[in-house]
Amino acid sequence: MVGSGPNGMSAAVTMARAGLSVRVYERNPTIGGGARTMELTLPGFWHDICSAVHPMALASGFFRSFELEKRIDLVVPELSYGHPLDGGRAGLAWHDLDRTADDLGVDGRAWDGFFRPLVERAHEVAQFSGSNILQVPRHPLTIARMGMRILEQGSPAWNLRFRGEEAPAMLTGVNAHAIRRMPSLSTAAAGIVLAVHGHARGWPVPIGGSQAIIDAMADDLRAHGGEIVTDTEITSLAELPPARAVILDTSAKALGQIARDVLPDRYLKALDRFSYGNAIAKVDYALSAPVPWANEHLRTTGTLHLGGSRAELAASEAEVAAGRHPASPYVLVSQPSAFDPSRAPEGKHVLWAYTHVPAGSTVDCREAITAQIERFAPGFRDTILASASQNAVEVELHNPNYVGGDIAAGEPSIRQLIARPTLSTDPWRTPTDGIYLCSSSTPPGPGVHGLAGYYAARSALRHEFGMTPPNLRRT
Ligand SMILES: Cc1cc2nc3c(=O)[nH]c(=O)nc-3n(C[C@H](O)[C@H](O)[C@H](O)COP(=O)(O)OP(=O)(O)OC[C@H]3O[C@@H](n4cnc5c(N)ncnc54)[C@H](O)[C@@H]3O)c2cc1C
Repeated sequence: MVGSGPNGMSAAVTMARAGLSVRVYERNPTIGGGARTMELTLPGFWHDICSAVHPMALASGFFRSFELEKRIDLVVPELSYGHPLDGGRAGLAWHDLDRTADDLGVDGRAWDGFFRPLVERAHEVAQFSGSNILQVPRHPLTIARMGMRILEQGSPAWNLRFRGEEAPAMLTGVNAHAIRRMPSLSTAAAGIVLAVHGHARGWPVPIGGSQAIIDAMADDLRAHGGEIVTDTEITSLAELPPARAVILDTSAKALGQIARDVLPDRYLKALDRFSYGNAIAKVDYALSAPVPWANEHLRTTGTLHLGGSRAELAASEAEVAAGRHPASPYVLVSQPSAFDPSRAPEGKHVLWAYTHVPAGSTVDCREAITAQIERFAPGFRDTILASASQNAVEVELHNPNYVGGDIAAGEPSIRQLIARPTLSTDPWRTPTDGIYLCSSSTPPGPGVHGLAGYYAARSALRHEFGMTPPNLRRT
């Protein structure tokens, strides 16, 4: 294994559980890739370096088989996400769909009608969104329902359903996770899946931070004989010991570099054509007090989407798509210490926030992010004890999977959700025997779900060892 992100670790666990001898090489001093927790600002303040909120922790088929819920503590906030608007108003996406519809007033029925048919079949939505889209859908009716809603919210017709400001802003806030111009089919697809999870099993936050998810996999790997070697960057296959299978949790671009000597030219050209999207810039704060959100409900939500109305968010994402830094940016916020006191000293808090920027940006977004939070939480600045800022280039330096600061490791366009990184019913397997790719440059794409790693390992077990997938349950 090359790389110890959630997909590298899920692949490693699966191979070790099958009885194989597994070694993981990780370039960084600590394991976890996009799921790590560290003291970034002040002693005693534990920040999630990348992922913070885990809609897939309960919905992913891999984590369900691995029984993640029995291995770590996950808190499911009553409010999955909140969307502040000026004047102390807010759109509130409760875990409870009924309560959300009640709160939305004029748009309550529209919200309910849009989501209920999918929330009632959330496991079918998760099965489809967590698979390779090229596979024959197992639940065509649910996929058709989802497709109709994606067409509506991914097209200029997206305003026809709603009359108020809160509901469309809420939906735009989740769609914007995909870091692309809106409305578009890919942003609507990402947003609808996330929003369905928000009302189905919720958006959990792991006690102790995202690192807890990785540590659970590392414990299982070691218990089944696996080894992890840190501080070791692999730049060529020649640096690895002989192995019947090499599974890379790297970007598609790095696969092309590391395995250049053994991959066929046409495949290398396809990897070169795989494109990377726009980026993020992040700020982590240590706070003396909870964020003083103008809308009190927002003090108990796990995740917030800032930036104002649907029109404002669409305008700011269009700026990023055009290669500019918006004056009033979209900001994604997570406040884990509202649910997990272990993240900060007593009475104090950590806050995680990022914004969208053009790929390869070197702009420090600390002030832009702080100003956007202050807009909806007057007095926020007075609570800041310390902050740590990362621009898009630093995000990539930290983890080369995030090419140019693209945290999806490949633009999540419709074309690249179908051909990820190439068009294949087994996209984890390269044309060269024994070489596999398992990162989020493969289906089902970005997010902490471990599914790409699990699928790559399943393919390697079948093709290299003639084995079937092992039992992953906690023993
Ligand atoms: C700021 C940020 C916020 C995010 N927020 C969320 C969130 O809230 N929820 C969510 O679900 N997802 C979130 N994500 C996305 C999520 O973290 C990723 O989609 C996920 O971690 C991808 O997992 P992976 O295993 O494919 O790759 P990664 O997690 O990127 O891991 C790849 C690993 O491989 C190592 N590596 C790479 N190349 C080499 C090499 N040549 N030799 C040795 N080691 C190598 C890297 O150092 C890294 O440890 C976020 C990402 C970022 C950056």
